[in-house]
Amino acid sequence: MPEPRAAGEPADHTDIRDAARRLCEDFPGGYWRAKDAADAYPEEFVAALTEAGLLAAPIPEAYGGSGLPLSAACAILEEIQRSGGNGGACHAQMYTMGAILRHGSEEQKERYLPAIASGELRLQAFGVTEPSSGVDTAALGTFARRDGDRYIVNGQKVWTSRAEHSDLLLLLARTAPREEARKKTDGLSVFLVDMREVLGRGLTIRPLPAMLNHATTELFFDDMAIPASSLVGEEGEGFRHILSGMNAERILIAAECIGDARFFIDRATVYAAGRRVFGRAIGQNQGVQFPIARAYAHAEAAALMVAEAARRFEAGEEPGAQANMAKMLAADAAWEAAEACLETHGGFGFAREYDIERKWRETRLYRTAPVPTNLVLAYLAEHVLGLPRSY
Ligand SMILES: Cc1cc2nc3c(=O)[nH]c(=O)nc-3n(C[C@H](O)[C@H](O)[C@H](O)COP(=O)(O)OP(=O)(O)OC[C@H]3O[C@@H](n4cnc5c(N)ncnc54)[C@H](O)[C@@H]3O)c2cc1C
Repeated sequence: MPEPRAAGEPADHTDIRDAARRLCEDFPGGYWRAKDAADAYPEEFVAALTEAGLLAAPIPEAYGGSGLPLSAACAILEEIQRSGGNGGACHAQMYTMGAILRHGSEEQKERYLPAIASGELRLQAFGVTEPSSGVDTAALGTFARRDGDRYIVNGQKVWTSRAEHSDLLLLLARTAPREEARKKTDGLSVFLVDMREVLGRGLTIRPLPAMLNHATTELFFDDMAIPASSLVGEEGEGFRHILSGMNAERILIAAECIGDARFFIDRATVYAAGRRVFGRAIGQNQGVQFPIARAYAHAEAAALMVAEAARRFEAGEEPGAQANMAKMLAADAAWEAAEACLETHGGFGFAREYDIERKWRETRLYRTAPVPTNLVLAYLAEHVLGLPRSY
């Protein structure tokens, strides 16, 4: 039985939303609970999403995808989250392939995009974060040295999600030492690594179990040799090549947060209306209904910012400010809704069978990743408000 949707029906991309919703009905809370308990990858869900063409939505039709705009991908991820599922299992494919689309060679596009669209290949892993550089991306130390017709990669990544469930890895590495670069973001390059070729031969993947089921790993590169043709775009321009992908990532994850917020508001509203204590519905108490109503208002406002960021992205802009604001506001709204929902459920909010505690853990991630709130605020302060750079 589909869950009641107290937080209202979005009016955009209704066909896509219906398709995503119908698919999600086959993957109810029990499915996600079992995966969470076993720390297992939702293989069947990802396969069904691929089969339905929904995971390839942003890939152009010429390469076997549906050629849909970013806002349609947002609608799909939002519906997955709203159903109680977790799009984090596969959302990266929707933004990592943008780097290939915009900066890849025709050969890379023809070789990879149709295979990604059909599900033959998975591009689920995006390796940026390193243990010693943290949010200071330009300080990353993984180095790819050109050696004839190949690059030799040495270094380490941390928190690379889904590497064990992906064939391809989009990797950001240095190709020129930071000291030699004019700007600290110069000298970084993007590579599309076929992990099937190098696993056990220079690449080691080690699982990094976390608070939520997110298939997180550490990657170790030890003289990993990859063909020079793995380079995406221009050598040394990698940071700029992934920027628009990062904006897409923020907007898509913001849409997931809106889905989470609506999930929590739906569940909290239904429970508050039905649970009777002191001879009346708990939702009759303002102390119960106001936090839900406040979370609803904040989620609706954040949804407008997500739509605006997606609109600008689709118009060809690089909407750094809007993408960052959308991610921050939507993650905050989802967290506020999660807290209100947990509180509304009282002790039952902690019972696994209600899915609230799992979704509460899952949605908390987005205040920290892919970019923490502090870094969003620092970006806005510097780039929008013109205040001195703080980092
Ligand atoms: C479940 C999970 C999945 C992830 N998946 C991926 C992935 O697939 N690929 C990938 O590349 N990364 C991934 N990440 C990494 C994630 O993007 C980083 O954890 C995040 O960006 C924060 O980096 P850090 O952990 O190194 O924190 P740090 O850089 O150590 O920062 C720690 C804290 O200090 C704050 N801080 C640091 N500097 C400043 C400053 N100048 N001003 C104010 N505050 C500051 C930060 O906001 C943060 O709160 C994932 C992380 C998690 C937890």
